[in-house]
Amino acid sequence: MSEFSRRDMLGAAAAGGVAAAATGTETFGQGQPPFGPTPAPLAGTELPSFRFQLGAVAPKRWDGGWAKEATVAEFPVSQALAGVLMSLVPGGLRELHWHANAAEWAYVIKGQCRVTTINPQGESQVVDFNAGDVWYFPRGFGHSIQGIGSEDCLFVLVFDNGYFSEFGTFSISDWVGHTPPEVLAKYFGVPAATFANFPKREVYISKGPVPPPLPANPAPGSIDKGPLTHRYQLLAQRPSVYPGGTNRLVSQQQFPISATVTGALMQIKPGALREPHWHPNADEWQYYISGRARMTVFGSHGRVRTDEFNAGDVGYVPQGYGHYIENIGNEDVELLIALNNGSYESISLADWIGANPHLLLATNFEVPENTFKDFQTRNRFLVG
Ligand code: MN
Ligand code: MN
Repeated sequence: MSEFSRRDMLGAAAAGGVAAAATGTETFGQGQPPFGPTPAPLAGTELPSFRFQLGAVAPKRWDGGWAKEATVAEFPVSQALAGVLMSLVPGGLRELHWHANAAEWAYVIKGQCRVTTINPQGESQVVDFNAGDVWYFPRGFGHSIQGIGSEDCLFVLVFDNGYFSEFGTFSISDWVGHTPPEVLAKYFGVPAATFANFPKREVYISKGPVPPPLPANPAPGSIDKGPLTHRYQLLAQRPSVYPGGTNRLVSQQQFPISATVTGALMQIKPGALREPHWHPNADEWQYYISGRARMTVFGSHGRVRTDEFNAGDVGYVPQGYGHYIENIGNEDVELLIALNNGSYESISLADWIGANPHLLLATNFEVPENTFKDFQTRNRFLVG
């Protein structure tokens, strides 16, 4: 926060505007609800669109790959989570960098890549990822990603801060390139001329040879390896199976390092319904990998918004907002979900109805009690 905005907030608090102080952006991205007035995109008499066509955005391109993003700048409702679609050619390197204000969660859609990380204890991990794998880097951890194998590697990145931009990361080339050669010479114990040909600007994505396979024994990074792995093989998880599809969930319970993000990979059959529900502790960010879907979001005051989604679209659901998803196409919907909380919480409409006496429901809805005797309220997660 700048000194200017800090002074503004202190002034507002002193003037009795305590709610204004409590809505500082630092409350976002930690599973904490913003207190006070509803944020602008959700305050109107009608709900805004919860769809962003990331697939239609022109990517930024380098020889080694490309990237495009959806932050609040492009998708105003996505206050707590931002996302990126990135592709690296074999040998393409997303350079060593860190994120000052967001943790990074990712899902590999296709291809293979190699990741290197360092944590604040100086411990490192070098590990290969395949399609279906998830990674998580806590905020500030240094990392790099390189395409390996024989095809381009495509992956989705999700950040636990809607204001985070992938094009504003802290990159090693940018820092070294803006450090005087004499300082570098003293620090690394080599002549200053060593740095004459180093880049003077951020490289971001470079391209080199495809690195050889990792040695098995000892594996790189196995000497000073941290206690928690950065890789979770989500697609290898046995899914929960329902009449309407399948779901694979990865929270901090399954993937201990993932303290601020829970992910899910959901397959919804044609005609099936992901039941109405809400998440008490998290916003929901979605990437539609394939298929055609329709999501309806409920936001109180009679406000309901329905958007249709195709492959390449991003969806968003604010914390606590009710929502359900229908497959309206002829093929499966494959949906990637990230929630900005390492602990998974959800309450469904059917569970809620099923948990209450029919007499209460009759009074609540002002209909006869026997209306509810045939309601199916068990295991309605994905209804076929
Ligand atoms: Mn990163
Ligand atoms: Mn949901």
